[in-house]
Amino acid sequence: MDYKEGKGWHHALIKPYQNIEISPAAQVLHYGQAVFEGMKAYRQGDDIILFRPEENFKRMNLSNARLNIPEVDVAFLLDALQQLVRLEQDWIPAGQGESLYIRPFVIATEPYLGVHAATEYQFMIILSPVGAYYGDDQLMATRIYVEDEYVRAVRGGVGFAKVAGNYAASLAAQTRASELGYHQVLWLDGVEQRYIEEVGSMNIFFVMDGKVVTPELNGSILPGITRKSILQLAAYLGYEVEERRIAIEEVMNAESVSEIFGTGTAAVISPVGSIRYQDREVVINNGATGPVTQHLYDEYTAIQEGRKADPFNWCLKINKR
Ligand code: PMP
Repeated sequence: MDYKEGKGWHHALIKPYQNIEISPAAQVLHYGQAVFEGMKAYRQGDDIILFRPEENFKRMNLSNARLNIPEVDVAFLLDALQQLVRLEQDWIPAGQGESLYIRPFVIATEPYLGVHAATEYQFMIILSPVGAYYGDDQLMATRIYVEDEYVRAVRGGVGFAKVAGNYAASLAAQTRASELGYHQVLWLDGVEQRYIEEVGSMNIFFVMDGKVVTPELNGSILPGITRKSILQLAAYLGYEVEERRIAIEEVMNAESVSEIFGTGTAAVISPVGSIRYQDREVVINNGATGPVTQHLYDEYTAIQEGRKADPFNWCLKINKR
């Protein structure tokens, strides 16, 4: 689907996966106007569902607004996505932990060397079948490295938006953490480098004194859809939930932190087995998946995969052909 100033979004079509042609002067290549989303479709027996797709398109509009990209029409895209997934339904795997990953994105295509908000854009959706994020062992405990040199986002910046530049800015730290044997970087706030924000592609949760606690949204954390859903599910299951500022020293020193896990569309729920900050490493729950993490994982994936009823209306059932 294309956008041109004065004409709006137009020319929506579905075509086979193929290379695209853009001008070498396309603004996205130079000034980074690029926003994306990630969501999933699941097979539930004979049905196909999209998991909270409206939330993703709404978040795309928040990201678009921040990068001065024109708003997309959420109702139109919900309908278009259903048509697309219906066409490609044979690609949706049926196994536990498997799904169809859906990547909508928008880029500035206007050829123009000079910094201004582009007047031409392209919106696309690509699809890919996926298995569990960490292969067969979905609940493999990850090792986390707390980044204390670079920051990912500052208030007033673009941290709350799903923009490509955030990920570019995270790569040097992610590479260094991988070389040191860690799976993910944990980012601290961009002002005092003290308060916990999120990991590379997940929000983060702590089980403290039996409570399910996550950093409060502060303008530089991505408002994850899994985060929001897990807060709702945990409360429904009877856990006390809390959103608040969490200092890194609190986690490194607290006997009360019994479990840590990350949440995101790709990894769903991912237990954290150890956390390293500067020259200290703390092992969490003996490096194994804790009972609260396991409980939330079981209940959440059962809703997504249709093994349990969906009390929240998260699953949007789409008609097959
Ligand atoms: N934080 C970041 C930086 C992410 O890239 C993601 C993945 N979209 C998340 C958190 C989790 O968000 P969601 O649950 O919507 O996938």
